[in-house]
Amino acid sequence: MAHPSVLQTSCYLEGDFVRGDSAPVVVIDPSRDVLLAEVPGVSAELTRRAAESNAQGAKAMRALPLLTRVELVRRLGAALRAQSEALARLLTLESGKPIVESRGEVEYAASFFDHAASAAELAAGEIPASRVADRRVLVLREPVGATVAITPWNFPLAMIARKLAPALAAGCSQVLKPAEQTPLTALAFAEIFAKEAAACGAPRNAVSVVVGDAPLIARVLLEHPSTRKLTFTGSTEVGRILAGQCAARLIRPALELGGNAPFLVFADADLDRAVEQAMLTKFRFMGQTCISANRFLLAESIQEEFLRRLESRMRLLTVGDPMEEATRVGPLINDAGLAKVQRHVAQAVDHGARVRLGGGIVAMTGLSRRFFAPTILDGCAPSMQCACEETFGPVVAAMSFQTEEAALLMANATPSGLAAYVMTQDIDRLMRVAEALDCGVVGANDGAPSTAEAPFGGRKDSGFGREGGHHGLDAYTELKYVSLRLRAK
Ligand code: ADP
Repeated sequence: MAHPSVLQTSCYLEGDFVRGDSAPVVVIDPSRDVLLAEVPGVSAELTRRAAESNAQGAKAMRALPLLTRVELVRRLGAALRAQSEALARLLTLESGKPIVESRGEVEYAASFFDHAASAAELAAGEIPASRVADRRVLVLREPVGATVAITPWNFPLAMIARKLAPALAAGCSQVLKPAEQTPLTALAFAEIFAKEAAACGAPRNAVSVVVGDAPLIARVLLEHPSTRKLTFTGSTEVGRILAGQCAARLIRPALELGGNAPFLVFADADLDRAVEQAMLTKFRFMGQTCISANRFLLAESIQEEFLRRLESRMRLLTVGDPMEEATRVGPLINDAGLAKVQRHVAQAVDHGARVRLGGGIVAMTGLSRRFFAPTILDGCAPSMQCACEETFGPVVAAMSFQTEEAALLMANATPSGLAAYVMTQDIDRLMRVAEALDCGVVGANDGAPSTAEAPFGGRKDSGFGREGGHHGLDAYTELKYVSLRLRAK
């Protein structure tokens, strides 16, 4: 596999590395603002070849015995672990994710392969009890076929794993289109795939990885007659465009879109625990994840104490070069990401919020200007941009509530519905609030709810479809029933 110093910059299709033939995707190290690589993009013609190869891959995967499918998927998980350090360094290089988190992401990605392999081994059809004597109904589970995955930059490896592992385990093929900010990890993964597929006799064209002009690639892949499913993680705006394109050909979409997670702390919460969980959700990749807590809704009576304790924990965060072991806060992904965080902070302050900690760029010698200080904004209001939109940065936007009803109203009053967090020691309240939250994932005294065995996904503007758990496998499975009429004896 590519060591960070030997980068793979060819796309992967037809079971081979093929140099792109169009304008390159320019990959920058966000920590230093230096060019890492130029990856030639694919033209419409090369994309069509990838779609065709995906169609052939789907046929080969369908024919592959379950044993080999499962072996392939298990091997991929093991290979990620075996090459964890090189992958983690590459991931950090192109995304700016702190190295300790990148190692965690490689393990997280590997866990999707483990889980999908087990789920596929256990997946079974059904024979419902017959209503009449001479008929049997056999429910068969079949692979959906050729699929397309479009992934974001914030989990360059784990988002690929979450989509691809169940696809392969179910017997499907997949063309992956990684984000333009982080194609190198995806291409390194293609090298791993090619090697493992060859080692266990699985079709090398079951996976393709193409990089380039995203709208063009998506259009060509979705127009190809063999494409049966799209899985997308990204912005609501792009999700809507893709859903429209899927509608034209009745391709089934799974859309995991943006969030705006509320973090509710009730007066009866264990405040130290709540602070630990807040740190987990807010500072994982500097808040650049779709389930990151975006709005902190705090019971009035504990607001000050919670923020005091949170502030002292946040002061311990090391801002620095993401390759350093001690670093917990690295650079934001790009200038647009930084500008959005700055805009949200400025708008909140203009409208009466108070900067309690941080609030601006941290100057780092020898590094880029994209390091934003861990920030607390006190006295925010639901109408502020930092509460209405995903900030995607290390900013705690704090506001208070008086009653559980008011907290729930605020929590649910956005178009998004991905994740929410509830901190309380009252089990009745925990269950009541978890049930009333209009979202797909609830962290109940848990700031890191993502895990391979859970059906991850959102509702409302956060999209639909579930990934993970046996539901993830179901998403790549088509049911067929055979009604068998028996001859009378
Ligand atoms: P973000 O704002 O997090 O970058 P995007 O939704 O823009 O989220 O990007 C997520 C993924 O969608 C990336 O792989 C990107 O290249 C891709 N993408 C962006 N625009 C389009 C489009 N019009 N059609 C298909 N894919 C797109």
